[in-house]
Amino acid sequence: MRTIEHWINGALVASTSGRTGPVYNPATGEQQAHVGFASPSEVDAAVAVAKDAFPAWRAASLSKRSEVMFRFRDLVVTHRDEIARLVSIEHGKVPSDAAGELARGIENIEFACGIPALMKGGYSEGVSGGVDVYSIKQPLGVVAGITPFNFPAMVPMWMFANAIATGNTFILKPSEKDPSVSLFIADLLKQSGLPDGVFNVVQGDKVAVDRILDHPDIEAVSFVGSTPIAQYIYATGTANGKRVQALGGAKNHMVVLPDADINMAADAAVSAAYGSAGERCMAISVVVAVGGVGDRLIDAITERLPKLKVGPGTDPEAEMGPLITREHRDKVASYLESAPSEGAKVVVDGRTADLPEEGFFLGVSLIDDVQPGMRSYDDEIFGPVLSMVRVDTYDEAVDLINRHQYGNGTAIFTRDGGAAKQFQYDIKVGMVGINVPIPVPVAYYSFGGWKASIFGDSNIYGPAGVDFYTRTKTITSRWPDPATSSVDLGFPRTR
Ligand code: NAD
Repeated sequence: MRTIEHWINGALVASTSGRTGPVYNPATGEQQAHVGFASPSEVDAAVAVAKDAFPAWRAASLSKRSEVMFRFRDLVVTHRDEIARLVSIEHGKVPSDAAGELARGIENIEFACGIPALMKGGYSEGVSGGVDVYSIKQPLGVVAGITPFNFPAMVPMWMFANAIATGNTFILKPSEKDPSVSLFIADLLKQSGLPDGVFNVVQGDKVAVDRILDHPDIEAVSFVGSTPIAQYIYATGTANGKRVQALGGAKNHMVVLPDADINMAADAAVSAAYGSAGERCMAISVVVAVGGVGDRLIDAITERLPKLKVGPGTDPEAEMGPLITREHRDKVASYLESAPSEGAKVVVDGRTADLPEEGFFLGVSLIDDVQPGMRSYDDEIFGPVLSMVRVDTYDEAVDLINRHQYGNGTAIFTRDGGAAKQFQYDIKVGMVGINVPIPVPVAYYSFGGWKASIFGDSNIYGPAGVDFYTRTKTITSRWPDPATSSVDLGFPRTR
């Protein structure tokens, strides 16, 4: 069986730890590869290479770094179908969805192509007699990214595009569940002219992550994954003196006001809840029906569900694939088991759907009369399960969302501009959609939730990404005539 390796110093490197993990094809349930798990010394080897590559890469001109990004962008576009297939076969999402992931990833590479403009500092002439002040942005050194299974191409691109373009060298620790795409990307970066050692991949689990968190030569860590691990990464990395951004889980609510177009809201809810089998941190998992709109909305959603085609990515008609592992599928199904005993009503039960026999499939599911305090409301389910909560007023809807532990994304569906504006003001959530169910910001804004959906002050990608991967240095300069020089022990004044 194939073993998936590391990528260090521009080449594949086999793991020597003797520890491996299985990589499945979730659509068949078969193990298709092993992935070698890095030992601490294998992480050290990658970091040493990245540290050696840093001085020359940092010294490469902005135009040179931008040129590499332009070439990389073109290669990703050329190979997009191959990458989408690779994502599909290890993750399970259908190729059209994987292509969408890639399109959003490419935006981040395009943003990084503009690095010469993004690295500009500021300049103030004459802050005092003959004195000028200016600031410059400099890269940090070796930085690391630890990524989740659900976007094996896009989330690494959120990180390394800006990290590399700003002049850092990078260690990626991808999810052990779908690790192959990281190596395909590494090869494309090499073909783009990126010097060896600037981008490295170490495969692995907690052992590799813990070495990244305590390695003295790693300056910063970006993490995207579940909330308990994000919290751990943030606490451990910052205790070790690193700059850390750690993005966690989500529970995204979509509010439907009584004036909304019900068919449009139902289309949006179904698309955003079940796309990628609900395994998106920006998936809609709760519909909040306000003021009696619930009956019409649940009927409109229910009516759409039998038409969704669930199947493997190899079926061109399939719109939704399997879940990532058998254990995760069973955990998601357990919410359907417990919902009735908690007082909720399972309207559509994905466990009884007509599904492929092999693989980790679960049909789309809909639960009504869900309330705070129920497992299906409080937890991030991360599967194709949509819950409906019914409330009487707009204020109750806002209060419900603001009280939830997560604050990644939310959406409001209404025809009332004033209500939408009030919602964007009131809501304690980082990314808000107005008649847009999955408001993932474009690459020239930045991505980040609030509350337990993020740890650390820095959002990811876009301008926040450039700031995260650089340090500002401020220089005060004067070129006086030596003839005017004298000793002055007073504190420097500008007036
Ligand atoms: P996960 O937290 O299990 O794993 C993420 C990464 O952490 C992986 O690389 C994994 O190897 C590593 N890891 C796992 N357990 C660890 C441990 N005990 N110690 C150290 N490292 C560990 O997440 P996942 O299941 O791969 O991804 C799904 C989660 O990611 C969901 O909660 C989802 O909401 C979240 N997510 C969030 C965003 C966001 O932008 N906020 C985006 C995508 C996914």
